Amino acid sequence: MYPVKENLRKVLSQLPEGVRLVAISKYHPNEYIEAAYEEGQRIFGESHEQELKQKHATLPSDIEWHFIGHLQTNKVKYIAPYISMIEAVDSLKLLKEIDKQAKKCDRVIKVLLELHIAEEETKYGLSLDSCRQLLEEGEWRQLDHVKICGLMMMASYVDDDQQIRNEMMLAAEFFDEVKLKYFADDDDFCERSWGMSHDFPIACECRSTMVRIGTTIFGPRVY
Ligand SMILES: *Cc1c(COP(=O)(O)O)cnc(C)c1O
Repeated sequence: MYPVKENLRKVLSQLPEGVRLVAISKYHPNEYIEAAYEEGQRIFGESHEQELKQKHATLPSDIEWHFIGHLQTNKVKYIAPYISMIEAVDSLKLLKEIDKQAKKCDRVIKVLLELHIAEEETKYGLSLDSCRQLLEEGEWRQLDHVKICGLMMMASYVDDDQQIRNEMMLAAEFFDEVKLKYFADDDDFCERSWGMSHDFPIACECRSTMVRIGTTIFGPRVY
């Protein structure tokens, strides 16, 4: 078997205090997750509703599952009963649907707003301006069953460390801006989710509080 435990320990030893690990287990089998679990890892990230459903049903119930991928509004109802955090919320429509489904389950679901800062073309993530606009319009304040806990982003997938650093620092500065303006009295708004296998050491220098690491722990994914 792939040396999951050794890899996990090595990654954890590289994380400064205050940075938590979300072990990204998408496309990896239960036994890999169990190995990490035995080492004490409790937060895992998945990006497909069906796969997550199977894993949630068969793995220990004290695992905190984070949904990290693009989530279609029609899928929210399936994960609402148990999801611990939805990391990539990029529209008011999705936020409202999460609120609606969370209410039905009588829970409050933690979410992060996903920023699109990287140079790559993608339809996902809020530009800084559209994130400002969403927060300024204020409808999110009425949504009692979602808790906005911070921001999430993916830096460009490039070899240029300086570019990655610039993008992450821009996200960190943007965090300060919205924290001050909208969440100054809200201690729950504290998460900065950036850093993956290839760039997490940079993320740790750029004020990340939560790194999302898959390949470095579990090996290459077989799609
Ligand atoms: C797959 C994925 C990761 C993990 O990527 P690795 O390169 O395997 O560490 C992190 N974040 C998101 C949003 C992902 O989809």
